[in-house]
Amino acid sequence: MIRADIHMHTCISHGQATVEEMYQAACQTGLDYVGFSEHSPLPEGFFCRLYREDFAASFPGYCQEVLALKQRETTGPQVLLGTELDWIPSNMPYMRQLLAAHPFDYVIGSLHYLDEMSVGYNANWNCSEEEAFARFTYYYRVMAHMARSGLVHIASHPDFIKLHCFDLFNYWLWQPGSREVIGETLAVLRQCGVVMEVSSAGLRQKFCEPYPGPMIMDMAAREGVLISLASDAHRPQEVAYAFDELARYARSYGYRESAIFIGGQRTMLPF
Ligand SMILES: [Zn+2]
Ligand SMILES: [Zn+2]
Repeated sequence: MIRADIHMHTCISHGQATVEEMYQAACQTGLDYVGFSEHSPLPEGFFCRLYREDFAASFPGYCQEVLALKQRETTGPQVLLGTELDWIPSNMPYMRQLLAAHPFDYVIGSLHYLDEMSVGYNANWNCSEEEAFARFTYYYRVMAHMARSGLVHIASHPDFIKLHCFDLFNYWLWQPGSREVIGETLAVLRQCGVVMEVSSAGLRQKFCEPYPGPMIMDMAAREGVLISLASDAHRPQEVAYAFDELARYARSYGYRESAIFIGGQRTMLPF
């Protein structure tokens, strides 16, 4: 059984429930650890239409709420404070400042943007195949750069870019050179001690496949990249979402342990 879910959101960004409601849901799952990893507020020039207008202003209060929950005496899961950092390398000072402002147990690095272009919810794939393939390559180059930065512990949903171009992305995976690019990035993750997230969020999409898909899972396992299993829950019913299925998926590639970070220190939990 998977003992920790350390990727989840609340209603201060675009989740659907409070910290308390998400925690109560975690208490029902039998987890030993629950990690709140709210999105990082975006720097100027970036905008996510999904977020509440007062998200950035609410963020410090939210961190305080999670820190208070960490201190509460409870028989429920141990609470961790993380963040899902939008990786925006054009603004390193902003990212460093944000991470220094709160005592995060861990940082999940996410590529929701490539430069200023969204690769997620309002991504535009009305481009040539050549341009799309160039974006996929760039995505993995930027992920390697993020891993080398030393700022993140976990690389989240490592093929999130497939969200709105699933067939095209899978077609690219079979093109000459694609797997070399991904392989280089996975080697950097291993060398830098950055853990790859394996997320059941993809099982909630119409393609119904975890992040990452089978080919990248296989490559990561062969490379010896460590993993962290997570749900990316945005609602109480998504805490520990499809964890039995996720555990079977990871086990089929030989994985037996999932990473969490407490005060930046990695702990491996068997599942
Ligand atoms: Zn994300
Ligand atoms: Zn997330």
